[in-house]
Amino acid sequence: MAKLTFKEEICKGCGLCVNACPKHILELSTTHLNQKGYSPVKLTKPEECIGCASCALMCPDCVITVER
Ligand code: SF4
Ligand code: SF4
Repeated sequence: MAKLTFKEEICKGCGLCVNACPKHILELSTTHLNQKGYSPVKLTKPEECIGCASCALMCPDCVITVER
C-alpha cells in the first residue's frame, strides 16, 4: 500500500487533488481548518489508494508526498 503524507499547514483547500484522484478517496476537511484558515485535504480510505501520485502531481503547492 502506498503511503501518503500531507504538509497540512500549507494546503490551501483548492480541491485540485480531490478532483484528480481516480479512486475518489480525497476530500477537504469539514471538521477543522489549518493555521492559514483553509480546509485541508485528507485521505478518507488509505487502503484503497493505488499510489498513482496524480494528487501529488496536481497539487500546485507540493503538499502531498507519495511513497511506494
Ligand atoms: S496516489 Fe492516486 S489513488 Fe492515492 S490518493 Fe493520490 S490520486 Fe488518489
Ligand atoms: S493538497 Fe494541494 S491540490 Fe490538494 S487541496 Fe491542498 S493545495 Fe489544493
